[in-house]
Amino acid sequence: MKPRVAVIGAGIVGASIAYHLARRGTSVTLYDRGREAGQATEKSFAWINATWGNPEPYFRLRFLAMGEWRRLADEVGDALGVLWRGCLIWDLADHELETFARRHAAWGYDVRLIERAEIAALEPGLIAPPERAAYAAGDATVEPVAATRALLAAAASHGAEVRLETEVPEPRALDADVWVLAAGAASSALCATLGLSLPMRPTPGLLVHSQPTAPLLRHVVQAPGLHMKQENHRIVVGQDFGGGPAPDDADAEGRRLLALVKEHLRGADALEVDGVTVGTRPMPEDGMPVLGFAPGLPGVYLATMHSGITLAAAAGRFAAMEILDGARVEMLEPYRPERFVRNGGAG
Ligand SMILES: Cc1cc2nc3c(=O)[nH]c(=O)nc-3n(C[C@H](O)[C@H](O)[C@H](O)COP(=O)(O)OP(=O)(O)OC[C@H]3O[C@@H](n4cnc5c(N)ncnc54)[C@H](O)[C@@H]3O)c2cc1C
Repeated sequence: MKPRVAVIGAGIVGASIAYHLARRGTSVTLYDRGREAGQATEKSFAWINATWGNPEPYFRLRFLAMGEWRRLADEVGDALGVLWRGCLIWDLADHELETFARRHAAWGYDVRLIERAEIAALEPGLIAPPERAAYAAGDATVEPVAATRALLAAAASHGAEVRLETEVPEPRALDADVWVLAAGAASSALCATLGLSLPMRPTPGLLVHSQPTAPLLRHVVQAPGLHMKQENHRIVVGQDFGGGPAPDDADAEGRRLLALVKEHLRGADALEVDGVTVGTRPMPEDGMPVLGFAPGLPGVYLATMHSGITLAAAAGRFAAMEILDGARVEMLEPYRPERFVRNGGAG
């Protein structure tokens, strides 16, 4: 008998898990207290990557997860909207850039150092291309709300039921055999209703969306002090991935970032801010994903992570295997809840 599964959270992670479960023919109901993708997912930069700054095992998970997006795009189709556009990176000191490119290339990542002429040819809109950059040709982006909707539609086509505007105060009050907690930054609070403590340090992240404009930018660009891409005709800009506190005046920060874009990008002079978003990154305390069954609570499966866009396709398939087949995916061992999720016994 396949278990009946309740998934709580219709962000990209919950939507992917629901899709992967439903396509395996199990009964799935997905709940969200708001609309789909309305929290971190909507406010995400949504860059799919396995770039610098991660230990090798986590790099390998992210690298595999990038390939999972290709598989998902084949299954779900164009509505998923993955754009394999590549990334240009020069927000590192020269020696760090070199170490990053060398080490990650040795790990199998499609990255190499390129010089100014090649940078200019790849990204003709740059006013002053840097002397050197790392070029990660296989990186991608998605429009995160569209991708979540595509996954929900695909899940529904396999029989999943999607209940939006439906708060879940206590997961196990839902009639199911397995409860997947994919509640993003609210995961700690939801875990607490089960007597579980999930340590998190959610941090704010600001993005600026320009008004629509002609094509100005082809790649994801990581320059010192800003990252940017063009999505849905708009330039989307973020501060960096440091996750510092939200600026008191988000609009002023939005104008500052767009002014920075104008220094980098030809044809951007007349650009105006269309909107500024401040999202909350669902960051577990040690910065790593939390994936797996909760300690001491049979049937409760946790799925909370930053970089949830990059990881969603893999997290969905792996969670479905663990829930439906009883598999234990070895690659997920470093990310098990047991490392710091405590069961206080109230659940
Ligand atoms: C500024 C910014 C930039 C980012 N950039 C990137 C990036 O470039 N690449 C990348 O991979 N990641 C990035 N991230 C992180 C990524 O966006 C998140 O990891 C991902 O969106 C998390 O998805 P989720 O589905 O887990 O959470 P969410 O999208 O937050 O969804 C959780 C859902 O659970 C629902 N919920 C919570 N509690 C309940 C309840 N009790 N009952 C019912 N529903 C409930 C909420 O309403 C919400 O819709 C970024 C995040 C931010 C903020």
